[in-house]
Amino acid sequence: SSTPRPLVAGNWKMHGLSASLGEIEAVAGGYDAALREKVELAICPPATLLERASRLLAGAEIALGGQDCHERPSGAHTGDISAEMLADAGASYVIVGHSERRADHGESDALIRAKALAGLRAGLSPIVCVGETRAERDAGRASAIVEAQLDGSLPRRAAPDKLVVAYEPVWAIGSGLTPTPLDVAEMHAAIRARLVIHFGTGAAATRILYGGSVKAANAAELLRVKNVDGALVGGASLTAKEFLEIAEIYR
Ligand code: PEP
Repeated sequence: SSTPRPLVAGNWKMHGLSASLGEIEAVAGGYDAALREKVELAICPPATLLERASRLLAGAEIALGGQDCHERPSGAHTGDISAEMLADAGASYVIVGHSERRADHGESDALIRAKALAGLRAGLSPIVCVGETRAERDAGRASAIVEAQLDGSLPRRAAPDKLVVAYEPVWAIGSGLTPTPLDVAEMHAAIRARLVIHFGTGAAATRILYGGSVKAANAAELLRVKNVDGALVGGASLTAKEFLEIAEIYR
């Protein structure tokens, strides 16, 4: 099987009002046929913008994603959004297990696995986030932590090409700090090995994204590392110009 197109996904977090839809239009404007061949783009805006973004992007071949989903398809869960609702609003991806949700909402690996399964059930590709804290890395436990998160939060059975893993060291998110390319290479190799244990050789089709302070200035260095199949981008995805500059490294 051939290696999949890399994926650059933007995580807008809790940013974006109607006016930000212009940035999505601008990304579409710069995403020409040559670039589309080299890299897939996805934007995960707040859920309130999904439907309008989806209408704006009709025909633009930019994917949309949710930032979280409930594990059930529907029910008495005030304030929650199901994977089916995200799909209905035009999403094809859903981020699950982002460190901010693990921290702010106490999400466990088991819950994240249920959410990833919900995404698959609804026809979405889950982007399962894992990553160690600074203290865990300093203690030499980074790969053990990440492997345990993978073992606990990946669906046990899944088509590997429908699954995306994002390695996001917690200490690199929004901090301007990044691991060295060597550290990224080591972790992504460890993640690939773990995926092979779970899914067999088909695991070559699972994209492993790097996330944490990716910006135009460091994208080439971080994303050209072996086993890095794209990026999950937070802050630098909020403006079309910088988001496109990151994608441009694949041209
Ligand atoms: C993220 O939160 O997924 C992320 C990578 O954030 P940032 O790029 O802002 O560090």
